[in-house]
Amino acid sequence: MPSLTPQRSGARAAVAPTPCALCGGSGYRLVHDMGWRRILRCAGCRLIRAEPLPSLAEKAEIETQGYTDETAFPEVRDFFANCHRNFVEDPVIREMRRHLGRLESATGGPGSLLDIGAGTGILMHLARERGWRARGIDICSLTAEKAAREFGVEIVVAPIEEHRFGESFDAITMLDVLEHVVDPLATLRRAYDLLRPGGAIAIAVPNQRCLLTSLVGLYARLHGPRANELLFRLYVPPHLHYFTPPTLRRMVELAKFRILEFRQGAVYLGRYRMPLAMRVPLELVLAAGAAVGMNARLAVLAVKD
Ligand SMILES: [Zn+2]
Repeated sequence: MPSLTPQRSGARAAVAPTPCALCGGSGYRLVHDMGWRRILRCAGCRLIRAEPLPSLAEKAEIETQGYTDETAFPEVRDFFANCHRNFVEDPVIREMRRHLGRLESATGGPGSLLDIGAGTGILMHLARERGWRARGIDICSLTAEKAAREFGVEIVVAPIEEHRFGESFDAITMLDVLEHVVDPLATLRRAYDLLRPGGAIAIAVPNQRCLLTSLVGLYARLHGPRANELLFRLYVPPHLHYFTPPTLRRMVELAKFRILEFRQGAVYLGRYRMPLAMRVPLELVLAAGAAVGMNARLAVLAVKD
C-alpha cells in the first residue's frame, strides 16, 4: 500500500490506494494531516474523504465503539440518550418527522420503508406510528439488539450491498449514513435498486461547506499539529466522506435519482455534551453560518423515475 508522505496543507498528495468514490480519480490534495489519518480532497471532483479507509470488519468495530466505549466519542454520548420509548420531542425528532412527511408527499402516503443505517431504531418507530411498514438494516449488531428491545423493531445486521430483501420499497431513509460508508456511490446505487419506480429517498449528511468547518480548517492551517485535537472532534473516526452541496448533488444524480428538494439545515447542539464556554461560541458560529448559507447540514429528497 503506498503511503502518503506528510506535506503542507493544500499541496498535492501522493496517489491514494482507493480511487475516489465519486469520480474514480486517484489524484488528491491534502486538506489535513492528523497523524493517525489524513483528510484528502479529490483533485478531479473535490469530494473530501479520509485516508486510509477501513475494511468492512474494521468499520463495524468503529461504529460499535460509538455505542460501547464511553470514552471514545464523549460529545456524542448524549446523542443517543433520547432514542428510547419515552423520548423528548426535540429538534432531531422533529426533523425525522419532517423527512417522513416529505416521503409521504412524494410517494402518495405511508407504504413500505427501509431505513438504511437504522441505528437506534427510533426513525422506524416514528415511521410505524404514521402507518409505514418499516424495515431496517445496520452493520452494528449491538444497536440492532437494543432497538429490538426498546421499540420491538427488527433490524437486519448485514452490509446493505450484500443482503437480499426479497421486496422493493416505496421509500428509503439514509439519515447520517452516507458520510459513514466506505463507498457511498455504491450504497446509493444499491438504494436505487431497492426502490420501486416512483419510490423516494431521504438523505441527510453534515455539510462540509459549513462556516464552523471552514473556521476550524483555517485555524488548523495556522497552528499545524496543535490543532489535531480540534480536528479530531470534527473529523471523527466513523466519518469517511465529507459532502458539500455540489458533491452530494452530483453523487445522488450519478446514482440516477431525480432530486426533488435540496436544502440546508441547522445542527441541534442540545444533544452534544460540552461545556458552556464551548457551546456559546459554537452556537454563534453556527448561527452566522446559517445567515450566510453555510449551514451545518444538508438534506435531499429524491425519486427513482
Ligand atoms: Zn473525485
